[in-house]
Amino acid sequence: MTSTTASSRWGERGTAAATIAARVTFENITRQFSDTPALNGVSLDVEPGKILCLLGPSGCGKTTLLRIAAGIEKPTTGRMLLDGQEVAGPDRFVPPEERNVGLMFQDFALFPHLSIEDNVAFGLKSLPRSVAREVARAALERVGLIRYAGEFPHVLSGGEQQRVALARAIAPRPSVLLMDEPFSGLDADLRSLMQEETLAILQETRSTCIIVTHSPEEAMLLGDEIAVMRAGRVVQLGTAEELYHEPKDLYVARLFSDIDEIRGQVDDSAIHTSLGTFAANGFDDGEEVIIGIRQRAIELTSPEDGQHGRVLNLKFLGDAAQLEIAVEGLDLPLRARVPEAVAPAVGTEVGVVVNPNSVLIFHGED
Ligand code: ATP
Repeated sequence: MTSTTASSRWGERGTAAATIAARVTFENITRQFSDTPALNGVSLDVEPGKILCLLGPSGCGKTTLLRIAAGIEKPTTGRMLLDGQEVAGPDRFVPPEERNVGLMFQDFALFPHLSIEDNVAFGLKSLPRSVAREVARAALERVGLIRYAGEFPHVLSGGEQQRVALARAIAPRPSVLLMDEPFSGLDADLRSLMQEETLAILQETRSTCIIVTHSPEEAMLLGDEIAVMRAGRVVQLGTAEELYHEPKDLYVARLFSDIDEIRGQVDDSAIHTSLGTFAANGFDDGEEVIIGIRQRAIELTSPEDGQHGRVLNLKFLGDAAQLEIAVEGLDLPLRARVPEAVAPAVGTEVGVVVNPNSVLIFHGED
């Protein structure tokens, strides 16, 4: 065998071989299917080797953007570039098979009539057959499924099918790997295991990666950066920490934290509430605002040390408990999350204390 042996392509001892990652750039992309655009001016730049998660509710345009990246959908206007070269736009369209882009879908899309090894070798047609075979087997080795190489997909569990789909996506060593809700078909335990394994493999392969997800937790776990989308636009782009600590609006805040929302009015750059006075710099006097209070940042003390409240309800959530507390001066009960071990029983009189540093203030219109 020459320099294109499986081991030199794939690396030693079953680790996924590194690839040459590409920079992915979307410039003002729109995609119009009907009157309402599926994408409405999306600009993003993903550095080589980084993982970007597209996060947002159903219908916000995540999959459409991923399909444009893959070349199975064309933008109506705007451009997409790989390493600075236009691959979709007014001047050029590069078909999917010439983009060196790997795809992994929600339903794994394995071919039922092909063996597992042949499924993984499917994208390796440009290699001599014996090399393709070795690369496919090395990829199966990496995901721990070499023993199933000769079997057919129907014998595999959901988690195993997910691993085969991952092996198939990374085997050709794509410069860009696109994953559409790759874990949504798995149950909770398996999902977290597969998220960790996949992250380890992505870090070895070093492809640039775009992952579509509904789950803020998944986006925080996997993404170097997260693009929060809504109605065809990117609402905010940032690291998990940035989005958590400095959400641009209530929509983003709600995604990354369980918050209580109370209304207030700005008076002399502050908002006076029955839970305390909060600074409101940058807001106009008289403006209606929404105060977001992180449920985990609510502290419960004895009734005389905080705003008086009474526990109405308690939900056991494992390590934590969610409490509903009627608080003097508030129209609606407040929800608080406290460690289960210190959760007061229903009916207990408590004092409620809110740390002013943990509140988020947003313009009133939602
Ligand atoms: P989900 O999480 O449910 O997959 P999404 O955020 O990925 O949603 P898209 O699948 O990108 O959203 O769809 C965005 C919008 O574009 C939706 O309103 C959808 O109905 C519409 N759309 C997508 N593809 C087509 C198509 N081929 N023809 C017509 N409308 C489409």
